[in-house]
Amino acid sequence: MVRIGILTCSNATQDLGCCSASCLADFRKRRGTFSDYPAEEELVLVGIINCPGCPTLTGADKLLQRIKGLTAFRLNAIHFTYCMKALCPFLKKYEKALTEAYPDIKLIIGTHQEHVTPEEYRKRVKKLFCQDRKSMADVILGKD
Ligand code: SF4
Repeated sequence: MVRIGILTCSNATQDLGCCSASCLADFRKRRGTFSDYPAEEELVLVGIINCPGCPTLTGADKLLQRIKGLTAFRLNAIHFTYCMKALCPFLKKYEKALTEAYPDIKLIIGTHQEHVTPEEYRKRVKKLFCQDRKSMADVILGKD
């Protein structure tokens, strides 16, 4: 049995509304990086947690605090989601920090199958971020 945790990017979950459906579907269907486990191995999804947000001055410390909520549950592996792989500029730092803090937990970069290139994915996500959105200022100023 492999006890798995998934770490997601909060830009994707909090800002862009990703509910992790693709990661979870491919976990169930053992596709993407989940296809690398031996077929006879039972996979247990222990939990999903999102990154606490881009680290600014705290470096990996912010993530190390947050990830305790997942690592407390006897994990064998943590998968960094595909969105982290494609989007996160801190990926290498996080990988190093987590490997040092949790040498017995295997880190896997990626989750679901990759349907577009990372470049195309980044282009699409950037477009989402840059679309014109209303804010509370529009409500306050009666421009909504
Ligand atoms: S630090 Fe990386 S994973 Fe976390 S919100 Fe920022 S881009 Fe996403």
